[in-house]
Amino acid sequence: MSRVYNFSAGPAVLPEEVLREAAEEMMDYKGSGMSVMEMSHRSKVYDTIIKEAEADLRDLMQIPDNYKVLFLQGGASQQFAMIPMNLMKNKKAAYIVTGQWAKKAWKEAQIYGEAVSVASSEDQTFSYIPDCSDLDIPDDADYVYICENNTIYGTKFKELPNTKGHTLVADVSSCFLSEPVDVTKYGVIYGGVQKNIGPAGVVIVIIREDLITEDTLPGTPTMLKYKTHADAASLYNTPPAYGIYICGKVFKWLKSMGGLSAIRERNEEKAKILYDFLDESSLFRGTVAKEDRSLMNVPFVTGSDELDAKFVAEAKAAGLENLKGHRSVGGMRASIYNAMPKEGVEKLVAFMREFEEKNR
Ligand SMILES: *Cc1c(COP(=O)(O)O)cnc(C)c1O
Repeated sequence: MSRVYNFSAGPAVLPEEVLREAAEEMMDYKGSGMSVMEMSHRSKVYDTIIKEAEADLRDLMQIPDNYKVLFLQGGASQQFAMIPMNLMKNKKAAYIVTGQWAKKAWKEAQIYGEAVSVASSEDQTFSYIPDCSDLDIPDDADYVYICENNTIYGTKFKELPNTKGHTLVADVSSCFLSEPVDVTKYGVIYGGVQKNIGPAGVVIVIIREDLITEDTLPGTPTMLKYKTHADAASLYNTPPAYGIYICGKVFKWLKSMGGLSAIRERNEEKAKILYDFLDESSLFRGTVAKEDRSLMNVPFVTGSDELDAKFVAEAKAAGLENLKGHRSVGGMRASIYNAMPKEGVEKLVAFMREFEEKNR
């Protein structure tokens, strides 16, 4: 068996301990005589799996009792519609457009009501987070929407926007569980798990109870109502059962690592190794405003498309995979999620140093 260092933005690297445990349990989960993939989602064994997953997540994030945790499908992209369908009582919402995912969510919301862009960083290819301390938010906006970590561009909100009392909705797909969070500051926190938590196919929605109502936009399908899933504890229909099981293992792994404060420290340490090198390098440079740098996604360039392509190819040959930047921006991007070991980042930087020497 040989594993590479996988810098993919998603689906992405998972902890080896988790993969090994899942492999061991593949044929016979804890004496049940079957794989978790094969069991009824209504069985007692599975009930324990999903309940434990939720309890561990609540524990990790210190989620208050007046928030529901939902395990859903449809990816983060389905939430782009579900959020306005469920939350747009006044048919108005404010969007902060800091990248492609935020923009997609904003566009989708326009189908359902008046979605206003109250701030954007598109003028500089989304390379920074705009000042959100005093935005012009319509009084009757149902919520303020952000994409907290911009996976493609590598920026992160270091401070939440001043929503002026409006409900904050955040897509945290690519920074989920990367650091402690104060859940009470949000109405909805959601993310696809394939970036930092588990296999594709699960999206986790953490939503304050008062936002879960029957009063959805006319025509909202049953499956797209938060209430449907909240009332059924994520078992209205067959959930992405195996994916939730893996997420549960990752939650336990995070707890064994010391929880989210410890993980943040580890993530800061890892990111520093890479950013420090980018700041001193004569060949490579980071592409975003320093104060807005993400701990999870690190885009960088050489300034030459040719050298970029050469770097990506040679890195791959050296066991450092998926370093090509998003197709919309080019260059390189190293995603260094929770499960990327420090050695992976060290190897990457050593390889970059060597490449720099040879290509001066
Ligand atoms: C990947 C990603 C998405 C899209 O996720 P899907 O599960 O593919 O719909 C949305 N938002 C962010 C921040 C992402 O990183």
